[in-house]
Amino acid sequence: MTRTTPELAPPLQTSTLHQRKVKSNIFKAKNMVGLSWVKDHVGIPGNELADQQAKLAITSGEKFVIPAPNSHLKCLLKNYIVNKWNEYWNSYDSASEIRVRGYINKVSPKFLIHNKFLIYFLGGHGPFPSYLHRFKFLDSAHCICGMLGDADHYIFSCSSPKSSI
Ligand SMILES: [Zn+2]
Repeated sequence: MTRTTPELAPPLQTSTLHQRKVKSNIFKAKNMVGLSWVKDHVGIPGNELADQQAKLAITSGEKFVIPAPNSHLKCLLKNYIVNKWNEYWNSYDSASEIRVRGYINKVSPKFLIHNKFLIYFLGGHGPFPSYLHRFKFLDSAHCICGMLGDADHYIFSCSSPKSSI
């Protein structure tokens, strides 16, 4: 035996009609009503009535689903993606990831790095003797001044005028 949809149709249709009517009324009243903030519980009759109705709707009202606009959905998705990106960002514990997190502890689409020299410095992966030596491109991991030739050395401490990366 199959169940047919006509049993469900009337309430859904009534709900849809009701929603359309509410939307229509709101649209018609758009120039006659407005929203403004008022301090709550100070005895303003309209505010007290609105508060009472809101509490009544929570306890005994019918569920009324208002579809969210696309902008709201985009905001939710963006937040979800950034949160997942942050989880991914914080889940890696390699030396270079820990180094980068020392400077940038949280990811954000507003802070995307396009400068390759900054990326070299942050990750420590660049044309530094220590990095190149690690992959056997150089015989020594040291700068010409004798110190370990890593990113921090070139940025913070190397005083040799002949050193360059
Ligand atoms: Zn040096």
